[in-house]
Amino acid sequence: MKHNLILLLLFGLYACSQSDLSMQLQKASWIDLSHEYDSNTVYWPTNVKFRHDTVFCGINSQNYFYASFKYSAEEHGGTHFDAPLHFHQGGESIEKIGMERLHGPAVVVDVTEHASQSRDYLVGKTDLENWEKIHGRIPDGAVILLRTGWGKFYHDHLKYTGTLKTGVDGVRELHFPGLDPQAAKWIAENRKVVAIGIDTPSIDNGQSTEFLTHRILCASGITAYENIARLDEVPEKGAYIVAFPMKIKGGSGAPLRIAAILP
Ligand SMILES: [Zn+2]
Repeated sequence: MKHNLILLLLFGLYACSQSDLSMQLQKASWIDLSHEYDSNTVYWPTNVKFRHDTVFCGINSQNYFYASFKYSAEEHGGTHFDAPLHFHQGGESIEKIGMERLHGPAVVVDVTEHASQSRDYLVGKTDLENWEKIHGRIPDGAVILLRTGWGKFYHDHLKYTGTLKTGVDGVRELHFPGLDPQAAKWIAENRKVVAIGIDTPSIDNGQSTEFLTHRILCASGITAYENIARLDEVPEKGAYIVAFPMKIKGGSGAPLRIAAILP
């Protein structure tokens, strides 16, 4: 009898905490941090643009409306996810990354001021230390988001990437901020984060030729998000990030739907 009572109490507590969670999530504001995919989506100068073609759209022979399209896309364009396989032989591909590594508390490191003075700015260890001085140690399981202020230029391709050229000529002219490899190394060795995101086309800055930050993060199993939207609306601390990439088996990257949840 006593045993049953304890079970009942435990179940009650469980049910209560469940409804608390759904209430909190329903009340929270959700910020969509993904850009749309269309013909203007930002891709690497050597990549093929996003395609979305009509299979059928209209009133069909049976007299009802029907719409269906087909799309094709490179893995690494628009708001997207980098899996460890991207720059690390034997690294995990997308489908191998467990759900527990697709969300976490947001740590937004704002370097807008520095980036406005240098389009090749590298977010350094000092920037991360400055965040910690104000907000405390970067929590385990965090998603670090680097706010360079570049996101607002996304629809101005020249300003956002530094070039309108395609191919290798375009690659040479890329200019946008990224993460300093030394800072990436420091994070990988000293903090336990699940991902690092940025509001530019790449986690390495535009002038990088060796992609050391990618290589360090991928070798450490830290995933990356690139071309993030609306980072200016996410506070430096207090938001929670959920980031779900398309589950491409064997994929090195994929389109990403990412949201910040604000309590
Ligand atoms: Zn990528």
